[in-house]
Amino acid sequence: MYRLVSLLLSLLFLNSAFAKDRTTLHDFRFWSSPERTRIVMDVDPGVRFSIDQQQSQFTLSIRNAKLLKNTYKKLFFTDQRIKKTRVKRDNTTYQFKFKLHGQYQIKSYTLKPNDKYRHHRLVVDLYDQKNQTAKAIKKPKKSLVKDPASKQRSNRVILIDAGHGGEDSGAIGYKRSKEKHITLNIAKKLANKINRTQGMKAVLTRRGDYYVGLTQRIRIAQANQASLFVSIHADAVKSRRAKGASVYILSERGGSTKFARRLEKSQNTADQFGVKQQPNNKDQYLNKILWDLSRKDRDIQSQKLGANILQQMKKLGPLHKKVPQKAGFVVLKTPAIPSVLVETAFISNLEEEQRLNNNKEQDKIANAIYQGILNYYK
Ligand SMILES: [Zn+2]
Repeated sequence: MYRLVSLLLSLLFLNSAFAKDRTTLHDFRFWSSPERTRIVMDVDPGVRFSIDQQQSQFTLSIRNAKLLKNTYKKLFFTDQRIKKTRVKRDNTTYQFKFKLHGQYQIKSYTLKPNDKYRHHRLVVDLYDQKNQTAKAIKKPKKSLVKDPASKQRSNRVILIDAGHGGEDSGAIGYKRSKEKHITLNIAKKLANKINRTQGMKAVLTRRGDYYVGLTQRIRIAQANQASLFVSIHADAVKSRRAKGASVYILSERGGSTKFARRLEKSQNTADQFGVKQQPNNKDQYLNKILWDLSRKDRDIQSQKLGANILQQMKKLGPLHKKVPQKAGFVVLKTPAIPSVLVETAFISNLEEEQRLNNNKEQDKIANAIYQGILNYYK
């Protein structure tokens, strides 16, 4: 009898331990960018997984897992790196086999829940072996060395940064629209206008729905020898009534108002969506020199640029803040060049959310920023 009870007890214990360790695969997403493919699975804490990389395929094994039907349906995607996906199940171990188009560097890690994702996340990044984006964006530098006189004067490079992207949706609107889509639409419209202007060229920090690290955005600006940096966002606050545009410029000491500090915090923490991207020592050294030399002039110029953009935005409706605000955003820490962050309108305001999603209104916003840039150069 005792034996039976203890057997039952141990069975019960095993069962509960088993159930407790079991991880549910709640959801699956992927993001393709020019430099990597990111696979994200929503899991439970303490997920046990391994990655086995063969030549042009890799297997992600997750032990003691429960695969939801909805998650399963999303697994079979293809992009420029993933050719085919198969799922094999051995008891409660799931094997996800990804056939690849080539050989990639694979990094995997887990992320804790945050205010946007309530589950723990298992992330697998596939990087191109030779960093082709880095190569591509370094090119202008070389040609400038060979031809030092002409190019820089005739072509002003404007870096346009569409806020957020991929796993980082940005603010969520009253009707659930996502900031990341709106910022990209406006950024692309602005880029088109700039590219149609003689002597100006636009470079986008992202062209699709994927995340680019904040320091990476700055590197893109540096590598392209940009002369201006404009980051595009849509604002959100708890109060549904707040509305209007505002422009932020860099302040070394950080936010000048409580509002600026809150915003600063939400933008800077966005890097928890990606790999930690510490600038290497060489970069830091270079940055410091450029930073010290140019800080003063850059701040004055940013202020001017911000004021010019606000003057145009004012024509679209009442502003949220009438003068450029100071904040310490990471994306604004581009040395040497005037940099502003434009909060185009409040996505948390129903009326403005509708405006932000409207094609014609997006064009008006892009045009206001564009005119502001032109006036700044005048
Ligand atoms: Zn934003």
